[in-house]
Amino acid sequence: MSHAKTLEPGVVSLLSEVLAGQPNLSGAACVDADPRLFDGWLPRERTESFDAAKARQERAVAVCGRCPVRADCRTWINDQPDRHLAAMVVGGRRPNLPGRKKGTTER
Ligand code: SF4
Repeated sequence: MSHAKTLEPGVVSLLSEVLAGQPNLSGAACVDADPRLFDGWLPRERTESFDAAKARQERAVAVCGRCPVRADCRTWINDQPDRHLAAMVVGGRRPNLPGRKKGTTER
């Protein structure tokens, strides 16, 4: 007995519209990584020291460094206007933290 649902045509076209222009990041190295590695540092939370955040983000950059789809990810992030993403490690790009030279990027 099959429990597969049949999608209505409207759902398929809606998904197609939402996903249009999204990169194919199949095989991304971050899939198996702890997603918290890539988070930005929020000083207002004070749950993590600045140095710990920098070390954590370097581990995330290392994950990106061995990612087979880094170029596509990087192209995607460079096109994103969302400033929240600028605080995270994405595509091997380090966020601009205080004390970190602006524009430093991947390994
Ligand atoms: S480059 Fe980094 S953030 Fe982008 S898909 Fe690969 S591991 Fe994930």
